[in-house]
Amino acid sequence: MEYQARRILITGGAGFLGSHLCEQLLDAGHHVICIDNLTTGSSHHIDIFADNPRFKFIQHDVVTPLDVHSDFGPIDEIYNCACPASPLQYQKNPVQTLKTNVYGAANMLEYSRRLNARILQTSTSEVYGDPEVHPQVEKYVGHVNTLGIRACYEEGKRAAETLFIDYYRQYALRIKIARLFNVYGPRMQIDDGRVIPNFIHQALLDQPITIYGDGLQTRSFCYVTDTIRGLLSLMATGDDFIGPVNIGSTHEITIAELAETLIDIIGSKSSLIFKPKPQDDPVRRRPNIDLAREKLNWAPAIPFREGLQNTVAYFEQMLSAGELANAV
Ligand code: UDP
Repeated sequence: MEYQARRILITGGAGFLGSHLCEQLLDAGHHVICIDNLTTGSSHHIDIFADNPRFKFIQHDVVTPLDVHSDFGPIDEIYNCACPASPLQYQKNPVQTLKTNVYGAANMLEYSRRLNARILQTSTSEVYGDPEVHPQVEKYVGHVNTLGIRACYEEGKRAAETLFIDYYRQYALRIKIARLFNVYGPRMQIDDGRVIPNFIHQALLDQPITIYGDGLQTRSFCYVTDTIRGLLSLMATGDDFIGPVNIGSTHEITIAELAETLIDIIGSKSSLIFKPKPQDDPVRRRPNIDLAREKLNWAPAIPFREGLQNTVAYFEQMLSAGELANAV
């Protein structure tokens, strides 16, 4: 089959996930339009593409309707990734977080309807809340506290999924919904507040590692290139498959085990200190990925230790460049 370069718009394209997506799509020969308001995204992440004639950056907040015309021709596909994903970051301005998720989804759906472009929503395991079903299957409807401190993100992402499915039902828009579980890897911000950057930073500086709660809560971390491969595979499915589909690792570990593993990889002298567990912090999280295996022929490939080593190497490099000191 003849190779067809596509024109692809990515909201949140200067963020951790979005910038990896830009990179992979540019490497594959596509045209990429990156939209970001640069609140948690960083221009450093996209500066590397600045000289690429197939790349264009537009600073824009998805809370406001988008009205851009692509220099590259009609847009074929949209990945909606705009929203801070770290609890620390998304709770700083919860009203903005909810608006980003809901107004952002509504604006991008309208945009995609106007252009007749296919649109993929990066949803999240957070739609399951603090799950009472384990591992989480896509048909599980979730357990979310509407009034909790995580609700701005969880309910925002849930409402976004509803908007997506209603645009599909009402307007036959071509949609896809991916539910991502704890993505990690190089280009996470060191001060982003999520557990892997926090622990690596603390361990590299031999500072105490801050465990929230007893450390027995679990997560299943997926290396970013694996997650991106899942998103690309989902976008490539036929119009009859819309998801939602879980994209995540089935390797479930406790947060205390994560701390010990990173201490071991880094050879750190850090001790563990225990701090109060945040409200509504999920106790267990692991995806069932049977659907992704079946429909996308997808499963994670990067072993957890290898992914952590790559991430540690990235932060070590930043530390030696003097970018990390005093940021914890
Ligand atoms: N966590 C921790 N210490 C930290 C940061 C996070 O123990 O310095 C815990 C947090 O309470 C949660 C888990 O690690 O149980 C994962 O947190 P993260 O913010 O990375 O993402 P979440 O999966 O909760 O959205």
